[in-house]
Amino acid sequence: MVQTYTTIMSSSEPLMNRFVAFLTPRRWWDWPFGLVFWGLVASTIAYVVEFIFDGQADDPFLIHVAMTSLIAAPLILFGLVLFRHVDTLQRELTRMASTDPLTGLMNRRAFLASVSDAGSGVMLMLDLDHFKAINDGHGHAIGDEVLCQIANHMCDVAGPDHLVGRLGGEEFAVFLVGQDAKDVGQIGGRLAGGIEFEGLEAGFRVTASVGAAHLGPGGDVMAALREADQALYRAKRDGRARLAFAA
Ligand code: GH3
Ligand code: MG
Ligand code: MG
Repeated sequence: MVQTYTTIMSSSEPLMNRFVAFLTPRRWWDWPFGLVFWGLVASTIAYVVEFIFDGQADDPFLIHVAMTSLIAAPLILFGLVLFRHVDTLQRELTRMASTDPLTGLMNRRAFLASVSDAGSGVMLMLDLDHFKAINDGHGHAIGDEVLCQIANHMCDVAGPDHLVGRLGGEEFAVFLVGQDAKDVGQIGGRLAGGIEFEGLEAGFRVTASVGAAHLGPGGDVMAALREADQALYRAKRDGRARLAFAA
């Protein structure tokens, strides 16, 4: 639906996770390939062990391979099914740990990790205006729906080349990868303009205050977020529904 998480199987993934992902059969031909490959590995090991302990092998190598592979096949198959299962669980856990369950956006942790990987750009921090009034006046279910629609709107505005995350509550962030502060006026303005929410009275607009800060190559992501936050509060003070740049 919205932004995809980018952290799955990244280079920072623990070694064991990558090992499991490497051994897991994914396409149909990985199954026969896995059976033959691991059958060969198992029979070669058994052959060498027999040679070491008996000084000779009872059967010719090919007969030995065929016999051992036949015996080992159910175990290998079980191992491959197990790897597949662990890999599926691992991926699901990684997805859950990096996704905001309400909006489907990256959560704070995944967003900040993706920004660190993305390099330079412009950090936009958004806080919805008078959001508490929507909850108080129309209930949390409507509030949740607004959050989902705003998330979709942000993804549409940002497009596929940029990063969108939910930092928490009604606070979001967009990272415009490779952009300069002078390039962000239009996108920032559209984000601040928000959406016309159809679930409420006609013409009802949910707007956002947006703070922008530039992040240079190798810059401190948390510092950029703090600067964007300060700019955001200036946007609030100046009347909301607007974009402000960090000083
Ligand atoms: P301001 O323009 O100054 O930002 O006003 P505001 O009302 O948006 O600010 P405030 O921080 O007072 O309110 C934020 C509200 O967001 C309060 C909280 O109940 C609501 N909220 C946080 N997370 C969620 C959520 O997941 N769902 C819903 N429905 N409401 C949420
Ligand atoms: Mg807030
Ligand atoms: Mg708010």
